[in-house]
Amino acid sequence: MICARCRENIPEGEQFEHMGQVLCEDCYIEAIEPPRTCDVTAVYSAKVARRMAGQTGTDGLTELQKDIYNYVKAEGPVTHEQIMKKFKLAKWQLEKQFAVLRHCELLRGFREGGQVYVTVWEEGGPGELKMS
Ligand SMILES: [Zn+2]
Repeated sequence: MICARCRENIPEGEQFEHMGQVLCEDCYIEAIEPPRTCDVTAVYSAKVARRMAGQTGTDGLTELQKDIYNYVKAEGPVTHEQIMKKFKLAKWQLEKQFAVLRHCELLRGFREGGQVYVTVWEEGGPGELKMS
């Protein structure tokens, strides 16, 4: 199976259907996320909104999101499968939670050796917004 977006081969069982296209996991995650999530301005306004509400770190998250964050912080990097098993989540439920956590720059995903891992967002790491 070939991904309709990036044209890469999709491993068995990892294909997703979106708007009539078959996508790999990465492209699917990008496709289902709200528009502009990866936009620096959007991430910045999310951060500012949280700051103005007096929220830092895991404040303002649901209990589940906090639990996922704390789990990844303690055990990470972990795979999606580990999180789904631990919290008894379906794949789409995890994607939804992960999108929020990524939007707030608490967790991020990365790919290594064909496997997708989730880890905590490192302060000053790639993606950190430099305000100067
Ligand atoms: Zn793809």
